[in-house]
Amino acid sequence: MAAVGLRTYVLRASVSSLGRRHISVSYPVCQKNQQAVVDSQEAKNDILYGPDHMQMRDSLRKIIDKDINPYVDEWEEQRSFPAHKVFKILGDNGFLGVTKPVEYGGLGLDYSYSAAVAEELGNINCGALPMAIGVQTDMATPALAKFGSDKLKQEFLAPTISGDKVACLGVSEVGSGSDVASIKTRASRKDDDLIINGGKMWTTNGAQADWMCCLVNTSEGKPHVNKSLVCLPMDAPGVTVAKTIKKIGMWSSDTAQIFFEDVRIPRSYLIGEEGQGFTYQMIQFQEERLYAAVGALVPLERIIAETIKYTRERKIFGKSVLDNQVVHFTLAELETEVELLRSAVYRAIALYIKGNDVTKLASMCKLKAGRLMRETADKCLQYWGGMGFTEEVMISRNYRDMRLISIGGGADEVMLSIICKFMNTLPKPGK
Ligand SMILES: Cc1cc2nc3c(=O)[nH]c(=O)nc-3n(C[C@H](O)[C@H](O)[C@H](O)COP(=O)(O)OP(=O)(O)OC[C@H]3O[C@@H](n4cnc5c(N)ncnc54)[C@H](O)[C@@H]3O)c2cc1C
Repeated sequence: MAAVGLRTYVLRASVSSLGRRHISVSYPVCQKNQQAVVDSQEAKNDILYGPDHMQMRDSLRKIIDKDINPYVDEWEEQRSFPAHKVFKILGDNGFLGVTKPVEYGGLGLDYSYSAAVAEELGNINCGALPMAIGVQTDMATPALAKFGSDKLKQEFLAPTISGDKVACLGVSEVGSGSDVASIKTRASRKDDDLIINGGKMWTTNGAQADWMCCLVNTSEGKPHVNKSLVCLPMDAPGVTVAKTIKKIGMWSSDTAQIFFEDVRIPRSYLIGEEGQGFTYQMIQFQEERLYAAVGALVPLERIIAETIKYTRERKIFGKSVLDNQVVHFTLAELETEVELLRSAVYRAIALYIKGNDVTKLASMCKLKAGRLMRETADKCLQYWGGMGFTEEVMISRNYRDMRLISIGGGADEVMLSIICKFMNTLPKPGK
């Protein structure tokens, strides 16, 4: 299966190299676009990736350099990027369905290839696009691919893999973020249909999406067995995008609040079994958290590399800022931490590929990625002085964007609670 998938990928890569697409790159280049890049070839013989992974990363890098990075500053200004256009380019080149079944247009490869893609996306000059792409590949679609019917996968998964449809994930609500079990959106059965009422909050891609992988209550039962995941077309009557939310970071990603009023969908749009939605979502979260952790590696390395470059050039009191021991030692500490994070993330992914439940490890990796990103962005920004506080340099965008890792997809404290559950140290409710 994997070999077939890889052949398909190589074929697609060579088709795309015929130069069917061309977008002008005459866009003015600011300092953000000139920052140090991390050479993906360095990891050629790494434990998780072989030559095929690196070939895939190189192909993706060409798309990033030509079709994404030259436009990022403009999209950040506009507070939105053209999701259909960008996803079509990625879909045409096989990057939106790396682990998805070949029957639906995926490459059928194991999760290490998805990790390679997520890691390479870290070379995009903002956090918003990797997040939006991750929603399409690792957050809104894993449950559909694993548990959805063939008909549902033909209708929603295949066009999402090809980049013809944009997906979003509707789990969080105004009153329910960390406590997923407490969502209020409800789907009531009417003949062969479901009637959905309620709303979702913080929906990435929500203003542009064609469909939502939506968590709803389908019965009155216990909160962990009364929920279902459904594919909800965003053009169905009764779906309203109430607003896009202004944020401190992730500017080019649209984050929407969405209302549902008597939205009617066929019951056949249920993903898998009714009542299993909470469990499916918890399984789906594994890939979301691995994606967040592996996606942090390149930005972390870039922040450090860029800070070395800047502080080496910046002279204060007759010597470069970097020559102060506190500066180069701090950067060495951070680099060591990134290396440890990389080892943990690669181990979690290696175990996941072998079929293990990596909930605990994935939670640890996401927790560590969020904390290390905060520490790294904060400490490095300090060494940029006033420049670090401007819009002119990438470090300030990193500082704003990457703050989200400790909040989105389960806050740090939720990760700690999961880890405590596995350590059997979490007090039982009511104690
Ligand atoms: C830019 C952005 C994009 C997002 N995209 C999506 C998306 O596409 N789809 C989607 O469904 N959701 C999305 N989210 C929602 C995100 O997953 C939630 O914000 C997150 O789960 C936290 O929920 P909350 O914001 O409601 O915070 P709350 O649940 O109100 O929590 C607030 C804080 O309480 C603390 N806390 C929580 N639990 C505990 C505990 N047990 N002990 C101690 N302290 C605790 C944490 O510090 C937490 O940050 C997005 C959010 C943002 C900001």
